[in-house]
This record gives sequence, C-alpha cells and structure tokens, in this order.
Amino acid sequence: MEAKDFIRAHIVSDLDSGKHSKVITRFPPEPNGYLHIGHAKSICLNFGVAAEAQGECNLRFDDTNPEKESQEYIDAIQSDVTWLGFQWAGKVRYASDYFDALYQYAIQLIKMGKAYVDSQTPEEISKGRSTLIGDGLNSPYRERTIDENLALFEKMRAGEFNEGDCVLRAKIDMASGNINLRDPVLYRIKKIAHHQTGNKWLIYPMYDYTHPISDAIENITHSLCTLEFEDHRPFYDWLLDTLATPAHPQQIEFSRLNLNYTVTSKRKLKTLVDDGTVTGWDDPRMPTIAGLRRRGYTPESLRDFCERIGVSKNDGVVDFGLLEFCVRNHLENTAPRAMAVLNPLKVVITNMDDELLTLTSARHPNLPELGSREIPFTRDIIIDAADFSEDPPKGFKRLVLGGEVRLRHSYVIRCDEVVKNATGEIVELRCSADLNTLGKNPEGRKVKGVIQWVSASKGVAAEVRLYDRLFTLPNPESSDNLLDSLNPDAFKIVQAWVEPSLADVQPEDRFQFEREGYFVADLKDCVAGKLVFNKTVSLRDSWGVKAGE
Ligand code: ATP
Ligand code: MG
Repeated sequence: MEAKDFIRAHIVSDLDSGKHSKVITRFPPEPNGYLHIGHAKSICLNFGVAAEAQGECNLRFDDTNPEKESQEYIDAIQSDVTWLGFQWAGKVRYASDYFDALYQYAIQLIKMGKAYVDSQTPEEISKGRSTLIGDGLNSPYRERTIDENLALFEKMRAGEFNEGDCVLRAKIDMASGNINLRDPVLYRIKKIAHHQTGNKWLIYPMYDYTHPISDAIENITHSLCTLEFEDHRPFYDWLLDTLATPAHPQQIEFSRLNLNYTVTSKRKLKTLVDDGTVTGWDDPRMPTIAGLRRRGYTPESLRDFCERIGVSKNDGVVDFGLLEFCVRNHLENTAPRAMAVLNPLKVVITNMDDELLTLTSARHPNLPELGSREIPFTRDIIIDAADFSEDPPKGFKRLVLGGEVRLRHSYVIRCDEVVKNATGEIVELRCSADLNTLGKNPEGRKVKGVIQWVSASKGVAAEVRLYDRLFTLPNPESSDNLLDSLNPDAFKIVQAWVEPSLADVQPEDRFQFEREGYFVADLKDCVAGKLVFNKTVSLRDSWGVKAGE
C-alpha cells in the first residue's frame, strides 16, 4: 500500500508497527437521502484504502433517525455503491443491529455513574450546554443515584414517558471547552416505528453515541470521517476508553468535497426533489450518484475524479470542470461515435437518384475492436440548421450558398439553392454532391468544413435532452434561497434525428455524437420504439467562455 496521502500514511505506519495486521474500514451513510458526489469521495476512500491494504470495508447504515429514513434510500445507496464498483464485506450492516448492545452499554455507563437521566426540557438542556462564555450549567438532575437512573431509563425504554420528557445523558464535564463533552445526550424518546426494528424500540440512541460503539463492535481499525467530526473525536475516544468494547478504532478526519456550481448536502438536495424543482433524486441535473449515472457519467470517471482530488485536511472548492474533464476523458477513449442532428434541416442531393448508398465507418477511430457500422446515404438527408448560414460570420467554415462542405464519412456537397417558405424560413437546401470525393479530397480545391448528417428516410427520430449545470453561481449556497441561482437553461428537450445504427440501443449505451458531445441512452425512458438520449457533457469545456461573456 502506497502512503500517498496522510490517511494512507497513517495506515501504513499502523501496519508496519504491527498495531494492526488487517485493515477494516466502513462507509456509514444515513439512509435519509440519495448519495451525492461528496459521498463518492468517502466511498472511494474507504473502499479504496481497504482494497489497497488487502483489508475489508463494511457498508453500515447509520439508522438512528427513523423518521427521516426509508427503505427506498437503503436500496438506492446499495445500488450506488455497487454501481461505483465496490463490494462491501459480508452482509449489509445497520447501526440498528446493535440497538440491544447499545442499550446494554448505556446501562453499564449508568452503573459506572457515567450516565444519568435528565428530566429537563430539550431547550433547557441545550441552553445549559451551550453557554459560549464560561462553563455549562449542571442539570438539577445530574446527581440522581445509580438506582434511580436505572429505574428511569427502564421506564423510558418501556414507554412510560412522553417524547421530550427526559433523555439519557453521559456524565462527563459541563465545564469542558469542547461542547461535545458537556454531558452529551445518549438516548431520546421517539415513539415511532423503525424501518429495521419495527415497534421494538421507543427510545433511540444518538448518532454520536451509536457511531463509535458500532465501529468498535465491527472491529473497525480506521474510522474515516469528514472534518466536522474532529470536535466529536474526544467523545468518541471517551466512550471507547470508558466502556469495555471489543476494539478502539482510530477516528481520522479529512476534508469534505465541495464542488462549485453545485450543492453537496442531502438536506438541500431533498428540498429540490420535494418542491419539484427537479424530477427526482436521479434527475440528470442532480449531483447525486444516481443523477450522474443517468446523466451518462461512468463509474470509472467518478473514481478517476476522486483519485484526482485526493484526500487532505484542507477545505477547498473543486471546480466542476474537473468532473466534466474526467467523464470526457473516459468517454473519449471508450464511447463509439455516431451522427445525430439536433436541429434538423432537410437537404436534397439533387444529383443522386432514389438509390441507397451504404457507407461504412469505424465505430471508434482508435478502437477497431468496436467494429464498424453502416451509414446509409440517400437523396434526402438532414443536417443541422446551424451548419448553414446565409450571412456567414467571418471564419465560418460550414455550408453557405455556392460553397462546399464535407459530409462526415461521405461526400463533399455544394449548396446550389436555398428554399424558403412563405414566412421566409429556410425549409430545404438543394445541393449537389461531388461523387469523386468519397474518402479523398476534391481535385483542385480545399474543403475545410466537415458536418454531420443523417439520412432522412433511413434515420431515426430521437428525443434528446440537453442538460447543463443546475446552478449559475459558483456557490449556490451563498444566497439564502437556492432557487435564486437555479440555471433556467439546465434542461431542454429537442427532437433530433439520429443515424439508423442507433435504432436498437440499450439504456445506458454511451456515444459521442460527432461535433455535439457525449450522450447516453436514458436509463428509464429509452425503450423499444422510443429513443431518448441525455447529453452528458459537451466535447469541450464551454463554461470558461460563458463565464467570461
Ligand atoms: P449530508 O450533509 O449530505 O447529509 P452527511 O455527512 O450527513 O451528508 P452521511 O450519510 O452521514 O451524510 O455520510 C456518510 C459518509 O459520507 C460520512 O462519513 C460523511 O462524512 C461522508 N460524506 C458526506 N458528505 C461528504 C462530502 N461532501 N465529502 C466527503 N465525504 C462526505
Ligand atoms: Mg449525516
């Protein structure tokens, strides 16, 4: 294992010193939403480190807030982790698997005089803990006897109190400079069913109490988490030092991934889903793993991205362009090429009969193993309306009246006539092909422009969904309302015309539509008889230009 960052260096040294012989990490999502690109960083780190050290990584749902959690999220998270290319060790685990053990550990703490039932209101408790200047205020219930606490805790468990009547708190130090050590709450009453344990429990353990003990029960060696938990580490260690747990894992914190033009918070993403701003958690505009997948991102590109951003303790903002670079980079070398016209304009090749000419072309210029496809050339073809101009700007290399252009994989054509309708719109171009230019340059002149095209009679209609970044501001969270910086142009639908080799694509087949960008057949809506493609990313980064406009 290479010590390429401070976490790996730590682990290498633990292996070298003999502190551990086998590394066990865990990825511990709370099933209260779909995973996002930030989670991908944590997944790649936890599973990556374990694989490099020939260890194991567990998948554990941190399910201590049943009212916010659901089976839908549990299923989606497992599917995302698998899709990213990782396999957890053994069965899927749940913090709720340990509710009995956690309860017994709580009784031990009470018996040690290190936990007490507090009957203050939640407001009184938080006020008592959070005096910023000076010490916290001891609860009037802090000195209850062990027997009294055992009896009250049992009553909490048995449902004899109402929610909010009392909680179990650790008895540590109300004068601690670290607020997390000021008698943190361990258990609260919640009279709701749990997706895993049903109606068994009426009290639920807090995350900060559950997490260290769950790590210890699973013999986790290195508990990797984000920097906001640094201040929680003293309590993590206090618990595991105080209780006789099977192991004392080492918590190590690293910086979260922040990505510009996006938000990486399940809570905020959930508001976009709930208020209908997006079509769901897997909307291709979403920075969720499910959304990125539907957008056409590959697992390889997301893993490459996580590798490139690395792991450190410095909070920085990563440019969204890097994510786009990674997917472009992967698709450039894997995605077959195809021709699609997103903005159709009819062209008649006047010197062609009704005959059909079948041209062939490689699916990928550098990957002969992908084979070739047939491209029918017919008298009526479709080109992109933007590839013709009556009033060409300087340097325009595509088609103009009287000018020539190369049809990709086909002939050079010249535009002889522009046909317009009554309102002056161009409805058709009449062109002639130089039949001596298939696979070779025309004689005596240079034709610089190359455009894509599709046979009008043999091509296939397709719905193409054009996506762009969801937000227009680099930091959408700088404004109180996320919707202020929503990009209204992040989603458009066009009716396109694609080459017939695409007629029977499968969902998630990816292509480079020549000159347009990378596209994927939609996972859900591309079905037999209806082609739907999503734009993954353009061929080049256009955001730098746009931003400077
Ligand atoms: P959110 O704020 O989006 O709900 P979370 O941290 O509450 O995120 P969890 O389900 O608790 O979500 O996260 C599971 C793991 O993923 C945790 O270890 C967490 O530290 C890590 N994680 C979450 N967001 C990021 C991020 N932006 N970058 C890196 N790791 C992250
Ligand atoms: Mg969380």
